[in-house]
Amino acid sequence: MENVIIIGTGCAGWTSAIYTARANMNPLVLAGEQPGGQLTTTTEVENFPGFPEGVMGPELMMRMQQQAEKFGTRVEYEMVDSVEKQGDGNFIVKTQGGTEYHSHSVIIATGASPRYLGLPNEMDLVGHGVTSCATCDGAFYPDVPVCVIGGGDSAAEEATFLTKFASKVYLIHRRDELRASQIMADRVLGQEKVEPVWNSEVKEYLTDENGDVRAVKLYNNQTEEESELEVKCVFVAIGHDPNTKFLEGSGVELDDEGYVVQDGRSTHSNIVGIFSAGDVSDHVYRQAITAAGNGCQAALDAERYVAGLEG
Ligand code: NAP
Repeated sequence: MENVIIIGTGCAGWTSAIYTARANMNPLVLAGEQPGGQLTTTTEVENFPGFPEGVMGPELMMRMQQQAEKFGTRVEYEMVDSVEKQGDGNFIVKTQGGTEYHSHSVIIATGASPRYLGLPNEMDLVGHGVTSCATCDGAFYPDVPVCVIGGGDSAAEEATFLTKFASKVYLIHRRDELRASQIMADRVLGQEKVEPVWNSEVKEYLTDENGDVRAVKLYNNQTEEESELEVKCVFVAIGHDPNTKFLEGSGVELDDEGYVVQDGRSTHSNIVGIFSAGDVSDHVYRQAITAAGNGCQAALDAERYVAGLEG
């Protein structure tokens, strides 16, 4: 029987692991398909305190993992299928590989995944000119025009990064002002290669004879005109959805958008013994540092809960 199982390995998961490991809870971390979470697909993180010179996202995650393992955290690379509360108050966590783990408590730190537009051929085109990760795929498109869809910090960051490779970066946004923070907005709009395309929505991905993206069909929602924009790759940066599908049937309360509901004062979910941390519960702040802070809170809440069972 485990004291605590932590599901997820982003900032929230690793911070929960560091704290529960240092509290002698001997945590087990179940790492999913994208170990390290969203920071593994980002470039330089400039706003994590303690790194005045910045730190690369994947390096920050690797260092968090090392810190967690240094204090005895165990890691299994398995996708969780379900979490069930048993009659005795403990939990069975089942993985897609068929393993069953038993635990007194569970911390859900599964984060969120990039959202796509939902166009008919979109998923078939991932890897053929549609992607959500500039860091992963930007270098495959040197000296050709590309576009980024979205108006938030992610879109601004991706478009800025892509100027290193592409000949031109169109920033397609459905409104006429960016949602991104001022510093990121100023930075991206100040790039020579970046051209904003305001009030515009991508209605179709157009492909060449090889089945790769050659252009997008745009709809201007002010003039109601349609046009074609030639691009070799589309970087979709329109936000994220929480990774909570495996919680269907668990009884854990989710809000309308699928985020785990915390009880307001702590990281407790509605199920006693299940806690959550980071982007899986947060559609407001969603920063590396807030996820880490919430991971610490979940660890302290779980520690108190398990101590109470023993006491
Ligand atoms: P976001 O702030 O939610 O922005 C999503 C953008 O996509 C918005 O501009 C939105 O348009 C647009 N959008 C949403 N659905 C769309 C659709 N179906 N079609 C077209 N456009 C659509 O998401 P994010 O940029 O991923 O950022 C998430 C959080 O992470 C934020 O808190 C952000 O500050 C943080 N972040 C920080 C950094 C950094 O500081 N280095 C980098 C990346 C992200 P509207 O504006 O019209 O709603």
